[in-house]
Amino acid sequence: HITIGVLALQGAFVEHIRHLANAIKNGQYEEYHFSFPQVKTPEELATCDALIIPGGESTAMSLIAERTGMLSPLMDFINLEKPVWGTCAGLIFLAKQCVNGKEGQHFLGGMDIEVTRNAFGRQMDSFIADLDFSDFIDGVNMFPTTFIRAPVVSKLLDPPGAIHKRDTEASIIYSKNTYCNPHKVQVLKLLEDRNGFIVAVRQGNKLGTSFHPELSADSRFHKWFVDEFVLGKSY
Ligand code: GLN
Repeated sequence: HITIGVLALQGAFVEHIRHLANAIKNGQYEEYHFSFPQVKTPEELATCDALIIPGGESTAMSLIAERTGMLSPLMDFINLEKPVWGTCAGLIFLAKQCVNGKEGQHFLGGMDIEVTRNAFGRQMDSFIADLDFSDFIDGVNMFPTTFIRAPVVSKLLDPPGAIHKRDTEASIIYSKNTYCNPHKVQVLKLLEDRNGFIVAVRQGNKLGTSFHPELSADSRFHKWFVDEFVLGKSY
């Protein structure tokens, strides 16, 4: 039995659950029994093997987590090395540092990254782009991504105690043939035509995306999360 929870304090959690259910519909998953609960309490979190933190508003999410006693259970969950995926506000919440954060806003510190909130500025606050993910998701060379007042990853940080400091930018681009060092952040996707902004990163079994795959009609990104991060098929 595999439980993939979706943090349901605030934001687009229902959409994630719908995509997860859709992603595992094909016969390939018959040997597994999945459940995708909404997670609002420490007790619900404790039942999860993996967690998705949805998009929404990271300041509101942080505040509600604080008020409902979810902050330290979430940090503990991350320390257990369970797979976690944050989308948009969820990416911000999962980060270690933030530019343009609000006073008193909390971050889970699950990925060694600095994010910048609302990085695309007013003119380009929201847009949809077809992106090519075929370097790491088989056959997905055109995927509709939605950016809504999206953050970007503005710095890759060295994990605490790192002996070898960061590689050069060129060598951190991940593809399915790259060995995935669980201790380092790897860039999955950057937008060449928009300042080279980094919009998808991975650190071991943590995944962060600036965009919302849950707001498209395509469940292949969720299927990849299940296969690659939760079932650990290829690393
Ligand atoms: N700008 C939002 C924040 O800072 C994120 C937007 C989103 O999740 N679509 O939390």
